Amino acid sequence: GLDLRDLTLAYGEVDVVRSISLRVEPGTTTCVIGPSGSGKSTLLRGINRLHEPKSGDVLLDGASTLGQHPDQLRRKIGMVFQHFNLFPDHSALENVALSPWKVKRLSKKEAIDLARARLDEVGLRDRADHRPKDLSGGQQQRVAIARALAMEPQVMLFDEATSALDPELVNGVLNLMASLSRRGMTMVVVTHEMGFARRAANQVVFMDEGQVVETGTPEDIFDRPRSARLQRFLSEVL
Ligand code: ATP
Ligand code: MG
Repeated sequence: GLDLRDLTLAYGEVDVVRSISLRVEPGTTTCVIGPSGSGKSTLLRGINRLHEPKSGDVLLDGASTLGQHPDQLRRKIGMVFQHFNLFPDHSALENVALSPWKVKRLSKKEAIDLARARLDEVGLRDRADHRPKDLSGGQQQRVAIARALAMEPQVMLFDEATSALDPELVNGVLNLMASLSRRGMTMVVVTHEMGFARRAANQVVFMDEGQVVETGTPEDIFDRPRSARLQRFLSEVL
């Protein structure tokens, strides 16, 4: 599991994530919701140290990660972004195989076999040789998910993974994420998809102005919101 302890992240002098403490139990899915600019992306980037925390700590399975090299940490915590960030000059298969080969130092054949298995899992067996530009947005995002999974991370972070997709492609990616969640992947998902949060989350976290305002089950958050800020947010998005 993942423990955030008093995590604070700043841009220059401005704290945009303020002293957040949060526990993500192993094998569970936490969805993070909140208005634009509330610090959701910054929080995720702090967890895998794309953004160096100002103070606080991130524990992975009980051990502090702050002393670890960020590259080391990112092998254990995979991340999927809104814009898929695939390597444009490589095929889908190569995109997935590259890190297992170069970073995990599997043999080329092992990495390719692993990549085929992961592409198979995300339903893209027959697209292995396509370049990103010859795939739909939804397919590109599934390649990005397969690429993260190929490193066998302990935790997966998703930042608005479906926000850049055409509406008809959103559900395919959400269904894949929901199936990962059901299979016991530990996940932190920043999303605007309240339906997904309701059906897939074990825990929902509502952030505003860099802080956690409310945490609870989907029923707590969506059916019994306590704070005026969450009530207002839900009335705007639902
Ligand atoms: P959204 O839902 O729009 O993606 P968010 O909740 O992910 O929003 P963040 O991107 O984490 O919000 O931004 C949190 C705050 O940090 C915002 O006030 C934003 O303006 C500020 N911020 C983000 N990136 C930078 C940056 N590179 N330099 C300075 N301030 C930044
Ligand atoms: Mg964001």
